[in-house]
Amino acid sequence: MTIHATLIPGDGIGPSITEATVRLLDAAGADIVWDRQLAGMAAVTAYNDPIPDQTLESIRKTKLALKGPLETPVGKGFRSINVALRKTFDLYANVRPARSVLPGLRFRDVDIVLVRENTEGLYIGIENYVKIGDDEHAAAQSTAVVTRFGAERIHRYAFEFAVQHGRKKVSLVHKANILKYSQGLFLEVGREIAKEYAGQIEVEEKIVDACAMELVMRPERFDVIVTTNLFGDILSDLTSGLVGGLGLTPGANIGKNAAIFEAVHGTAPDIAGKGIANPTAVMLAACQMLDHIGKPELATRVRDAVENTLRDKSVVTGDVGGSATTEQYTDAVIARL
Ligand code: NAD
Repeated sequence: MTIHATLIPGDGIGPSITEATVRLLDAAGADIVWDRQLAGMAAVTAYNDPIPDQTLESIRKTKLALKGPLETPVGKGFRSINVALRKTFDLYANVRPARSVLPGLRFRDVDIVLVRENTEGLYIGIENYVKIGDDEHAAAQSTAVVTRFGAERIHRYAFEFAVQHGRKKVSLVHKANILKYSQGLFLEVGREIAKEYAGQIEVEEKIVDACAMELVMRPERFDVIVTTNLFGDILSDLTSGLVGGLGLTPGANIGKNAAIFEAVHGTAPDIAGKGIANPTAVMLAACQMLDHIGKPELATRVRDAVENTLRDKSVVTGDVGGSATTEQYTDAVIARL
């Protein structure tokens, strides 16, 4: 069955790594019709709008997007285009897998999927300064909001993900010992959801600071992690670092009515246009997309080709210790399909 998906090439290295991914998917026989749309600086240049209506309309229609990194124009009223997209489509689950593939790293058996709540917590944007005397900026406050609804759906997503992907354990990561209300509610709801999976999925509770320490000492003991927005943001970069860096890490943003798949890294302006960017993260994001739409065999075939190319390490890009161009690396992956 033909898949219809929106393709947002993005800025900087975005167009070259997304095109490499499209070429790989074509070679794998994925029957995908791409609706190419702009966002970010490319859209500002073309339409003077970083998220044009036609891009949003396309995602509304396809419910599926693969996206390159975007540069948020400074001072145009946006905190971040990515945050705006997550809000528009209520993409509440940010799913970031980190798996040891590259040889020669400190850890060899990392296989962690971090599920981060993507719409609440400290990132909802309720912040203000407090004036004291003449000082307008005498104090600042940020509000963290956790709702039962939001906590329930992210915990349920994590446990369902664990069941569907044959995972054994979910770690509930929190700071309820200090933030008794917001983090306390997140943990309370997590415990309730965990009961529904008793006997099926093992559950453990971890305070975020202890979790960070354990992640760098014994990462192999983690399986699925579920946590709030800020902790998830930080810990998912940490887990990326355990497996070779941001160039290798994909991320899925999942909502009820749409899903957007992307690389975790940015536009890499320092290497844009040089043809040397590593397209792995977008390729693995495309595999997450194939899994999400019920094409696990195809996802596995593409993922195996990418991972075997990295494992072999003879044709890889500069960021992971090789000298191949984006194109040469993509050819090597295609040859392994
Ligand atoms: P970055 O991730 O773009 O770059 C950090 C470093 O990693 C650079 O040295 C870069 O060359 C390298 N790098 C990143 N991806 C690579 C790849 N695929 N292959 C090889 N090397 C790679 O982070 P930054 O420099 O902080 O941000 C640049 C821009 O990207 C900013 O405008 C930022 O707002 C944007 N950004 C967008 C997203 C997104 O759209 N999801 C995420 C993060 C940053």
